[in-house]
Amino acid sequence: MTARTLGLILSATISLGPLTGSAETVSRELRCYRATAAFAPVDSSAHRKYAPDREIDTLHLALDITPDFKARTIKGQAKLSFKPIAKPFRELRLDAVDLAIESVTATEKVQAWQATDKKLIVTFAEAIPPDREASVTIQYHAEPTAGLYFRTPEMGYKEGDTHLFTQGESITSRHWFPCFDEPNEKFTSEITCRVPEGMTAVSNGRLVSEAKDAATGLVAVRWLQDKPHVSYLIALVAGYFNKLEAKHRDVPLSFYTPPSAFKEAPNSFAETAGMVAFFEEEIGVPYPWAKYAQVCVNDFVAGGMENTTMTILTDGTLHPAETENLRESYPLVAHELVHMWFGDLVTCKDWSHLWLNEGFATYYELLYDRHRNGRDSFLYGLYNSARGFLDHPNDTQPIVYREFNSPDEQFGFLVYPKGAWVLHMLRSQLGEELFRRCVRAYLQRHEYDTVVTEDLNAVVEELSGRSFDQFFDQWVYHAHQPELEIGYSWDEQTRLAKLSIRQVQALSDRVLLFNFPLPVRFVTAGGPVDRQIRVKEKAEDFHFALPEAPKMVRVDPDLTLLAKVNFQPPPPMLHAQLADTNDVMGRLLAVAQLSGRHDHESVAKLKERLNQDPFYGVRLEASKALRATHTDEALEALLASTKQSDARVRRQVLDDLGGFYRESVLAAARQCLTNEHNPDILAEAIGILGAHAGPDTRETLLRFLDSESFGNVLADAAVRAMRAQDDPAFIAPLLAALEKREAAFTTGGFAEGLAALAHLARNEETKDQVREFLLRHTNDKKKRVQRTAIAALGALGDTKAIAAVETFTRAAKDSPERRAAEEALRKLRAGKKPVDEFRDLRNEVLGLQKENRELRKDFDDLKKKFTELVPARSAEKPKPAPAKLKRGKRAA
Ligand SMILES: [Zn+2]
Repeated sequence: MTARTLGLILSATISLGPLTGSAETVSRELRCYRATAAFAPVDSSAHRKYAPDREIDTLHLALDITPDFKARTIKGQAKLSFKPIAKPFRELRLDAVDLAIESVTATEKVQAWQATDKKLIVTFAEAIPPDREASVTIQYHAEPTAGLYFRTPEMGYKEGDTHLFTQGESITSRHWFPCFDEPNEKFTSEITCRVPEGMTAVSNGRLVSEAKDAATGLVAVRWLQDKPHVSYLIALVAGYFNKLEAKHRDVPLSFYTPPSAFKEAPNSFAETAGMVAFFEEEIGVPYPWAKYAQVCVNDFVAGGMENTTMTILTDGTLHPAETENLRESYPLVAHELVHMWFGDLVTCKDWSHLWLNEGFATYYELLYDRHRNGRDSFLYGLYNSARGFLDHPNDTQPIVYREFNSPDEQFGFLVYPKGAWVLHMLRSQLGEELFRRCVRAYLQRHEYDTVVTEDLNAVVEELSGRSFDQFFDQWVYHAHQPELEIGYSWDEQTRLAKLSIRQVQALSDRVLLFNFPLPVRFVTAGGPVDRQIRVKEKAEDFHFALPEAPKMVRVDPDLTLLAKVNFQPPPPMLHAQLADTNDVMGRLLAVAQLSGRHDHESVAKLKERLNQDPFYGVRLEASKALRATHTDEALEALLASTKQSDARVRRQVLDDLGGFYRESVLAAARQCLTNEHNPDILAEAIGILGAHAGPDTRETLLRFLDSESFGNVLADAAVRAMRAQDDPAFIAPLLAALEKREAAFTTGGFAEGLAALAHLARNEETKDQVREFLLRHTNDKKKRVQRTAIAALGALGDTKAIAAVETFTRAAKDSPERRAAEEALRKLRAGKKPVDEFRDLRNEVLGLQKENRELRKDFDDLKKKFTELVPARSAEKPKPAPAKLKRGKRAA
């Protein structure tokens, strides 16, 4: 699976759009697992998760699904064939969450069955002996809140794009069919889906038949997956789709999108055939399945999901050519395709070994990048992926980890980029050819089966003849990575270069002192001198005899070690590194070291890299470094570097200019708005306007708010800039745009709009219109919009919404909506008290003023009467009025 957030970390080039809440998929399980955790203390064995028992061998699962797109429900039949493994078997327990079970029949006599909200338990009249084949057939219906999702016009999706899709990983298949929902069980499967004529149904394996049923008018589409796989990889997509087709050898390849998005499909599908060919060659094992389909769906719950033979992708990956290289589908397409071998052909036995799925998918995605874009791009990808987590706080969790509450917690940086890095180190130590042989043997030995880390270790040790126990122990079963402080000196008398290396990571039960090979390169006039040392101590000095003082010292020049390295060569060496066009890592590291240095030479060198480096990544990093330097000179360098042919660098320079508040930056943004054609770069320029409030920018933002663009990116950018300006004058136009042009916004864009609206109106005297608008969306069928509307009411701070928000907190079951309501209510209540106190105080002041006016009148009257009655004493100071005493008392 590719999480959207991770997609962004892993690849600077892929843009998956805003995050949709995958929380809706997992909320129930989170509760369930958290509840378990609450009863299992840390020192209890129940706290650690292991693969469960397999009492039966599941042989085959046949599903027959009839969706009702109007009611957003399904009717299903599941027939499960199985054999008891070792003992007579009497009670079948299947995972089945919120499935309404109608009947259970079996080849054996059923004594009784019971369905709870999480399980279906079937008790047979007599125990079934081992190795006897049996089957149960379950009729049920369901209105799934996870695992299976509808996208229909009633929910606000486009007419003509109606569809549904499923998502099984990690443990959500149980929400749409009864199953043994664990990865340690493989079986063959088939799905028959009954859909109205004109609709498409895609599932695992090969298409067996399509037949219209005269009675119902529905077309029964039957797919058969005749090689075993696990329950979380079972998938179904049904609805209106358009399709592209291609072939690799005799493997049919297809790419589906909802009809309204079909125009963009070729850009995302184009490389698939070549990619399958590359992976067959690189992995050494032919593509193992009957077909490969990719299906784009609306508001997918992740970036992509590698269901056996049919990956589901977010429609956010679709993009027009005008976005140039800012949005590319190939990293996501490669990632999911690699899973057909790693994850699907061999599958982690339990979620603690998830890195065997995700680490391989992430690493081979990088290897495809190398094949496509060259070695510099590959190294830059590795460098970026490491930077994404090297500074992760509290990083003391090993990759193989059993103390999770929900398996969904495992899908983090440890299994994706760090998993990929472990494989990269393994490949660096074995060499490419031996690594390839090991991987091939690992796959062949465990095909259609499950794996644990030791399976990989065993193959590597067997084929290399070397021990890798320590390697896996420190990198996979223990946490973190080396943090190295490296010092360098040269002794001219002995002609010895010295490197002092200290491992400074905090050691503990979970973080070891590392033992690893470290390549070192000294570049002398006579050429490079390559040496390799083994680092294993906390602190150690290494000496190298060289013919002369080196011009450059490069530690791990080819990026083979995952480590946080602090090595600062003197400026002349850095400058030499910057100029070395054969050493992209040297240049990247030198740019990072020059970042933030205010001297003229450093700024000039960065500017030169930004405009002249042959590799886009160095240009991009030089731009970032100039922003970090943040001097007038750095700004001038950026302003002089806006003309970049590579869209990625062009966008970066604009982004970095946005880090300065200057008239010249505003002028550059305006210039871009006139000259630029790439919508994503225009959006960047609109973002800069956010810091420059004024009538001119106001007019521009209003214009873009109502503009049309791919994915509505320009209007989205205008909304963000309006929010940044925090000007209540934007409330009315924003409200109007959201009301009138809802269909133009993506789900994420519309949700951001609601949040911005509440933010802008939070200090207004009258909030009625905004409150009413947000309240209307608290029942939006798009869950993300609903949650955001509820949360936005909290941000708006209008206490008149309390009663309405309160109703969402009364749901019996925990849900993201209930949690959003609870949080909004907390804010509203916290806001109420001071507001009311203020109002009370104000009323009191008004009352006092009134009282004062009346008293003054009384006093004047009294004074007049007094003067009238005692004219002779009229000049005397009057006695304090009794009312004044009363007032004093009140004030106390
Ligand atoms: Zn994945």
